[in-house]
Amino acid sequence: MRTLSGAWRRVAAGAGLLGADGTTAPTIFAEMSGLAARTGALNLGQGFPDEDGPAVILDAAREAIARGENQYPPGRGILDLRSAVSEHQRRFYGLSVDPDREVLVTAGATEALAAAILALVDGAEDEVVVFEPYYDAYAALAALAGARLVTVPLRWPDFQPDLDDLRAAVTDRTRLILVNDPHNPTGAVFTDDVRTELVRLAERHDAIIVTDEVYEHLVFDGRAHRPLATLPGAAERTLTVSSGGKTFSTTGWKIGWVTGPADLIDAVLAVKQFLTYVNGSPFQPAIAAGLRLDDRFFAGIAADLQRRRDLLLTGLQAAGFATAHAAGSYFTVAEAAPLGVVDAHAFCRELPERVGVVAIPLTAFVGPAHRAEYATLVRFAACKRDEVLVEAARRLALLR
Ligand code: PMP
Ligand code: GLN
Repeated sequence: MRTLSGAWRRVAAGAGLLGADGTTAPTIFAEMSGLAARTGALNLGQGFPDEDGPAVILDAAREAIARGENQYPPGRGILDLRSAVSEHQRRFYGLSVDPDREVLVTAGATEALAAAILALVDGAEDEVVVFEPYYDAYAALAALAGARLVTVPLRWPDFQPDLDDLRAAVTDRTRLILVNDPHNPTGAVFTDDVRTELVRLAERHDAIIVTDEVYEHLVFDGRAHRPLATLPGAAERTLTVSSGGKTFSTTGWKIGWVTGPADLIDAVLAVKQFLTYVNGSPFQPAIAAGLRLDDRFFAGIAADLQRRRDLLLTGLQAAGFATAHAAGSYFTVAEAAPLGVVDAHAFCRELPERVGVVAIPLTAFVGPAHRAEYATLVRFAACKRDEVLVEAARRLALLR
């Protein structure tokens, strides 16, 4: 086999996908969705909805194609979408962002994260602080940037960080604190004490906060999302990342955005314009229309997903799992040890054949040093139709 040089190896290693023989494994999402496709199992693994979002948004994209909006949009995104993002930040959070200088449209939240990390981190002297378990891209991108990943544990069952752990992780070497709230994979929504401490530490150590808030409209139990950028002192050092994928059930459109101070946005743009340059011209006006939908729509998606979370929770409990209470996001974490499970990854590989359900082991979101602590935890996605969740619960009950 030839030996290929390049950054791929450290990215694969960072993501935990580099085998001892030098080959790379697919991501956990590719592996488990592939398994679902091969076995016909119900896919509660990869986080994507199994039904379409609002017709007005889908129609807006079709109309944009028919109008001929099929060439490159402007580098920062079309003004209509940048304005809609700005209006949205004001309407929901009272934040003021200038559509011309403080908003950048990206190819999903993923490109916003990639461009932000590559733009603001430079080599092994720089540290990126993340909460662990973390969304897989964070470790991969920190590795691509050559940075050192410093992790703060989120522990079962409430998955809130310990403030002393947080204080120990953030130092003068910290360039970025990468936050995800609501949190994938745990479903945690951080407390205000955690948020306040994050901002205090970023100020004290002159770090930049990158906050991934793609689940901003999927917060449950009557709580409202509180963006980090709204905390005193935060806005001037915070890049806020979001995307239309989750809010509008359009994960395949890959329309995301990042907002923040103009100098930080310019730095992100300097990298972003050489990753994709631009993307999704007919989808941009459609997502703009989505962001301007009335309050009923936004309250409705949170209420719908809360009901589905409850269906999933009841099903998991009836099947013998212990469950964490997801306060937001698509996901609920279950403890499979009561079912005799010792290795959640092996369990998830067998689950489609045993009962026709796909789920994701939490170890996929944890570095090698800490996998043992998460060895029996499993992530289930609730963003599926009620009848799918009910049928999944029936099947999981066969495990008892
Ligand atoms: N961040 C988190 C926490 C996610 O769960 C996801 C994906 N689902 C993304 C980023 C990627 O979002 P996008 O599909 O908009 O790139
Ligand atoms: N964010 C989705 C999840 O956590 C997966 C996205 C992907 O496949 N990269 O399930």
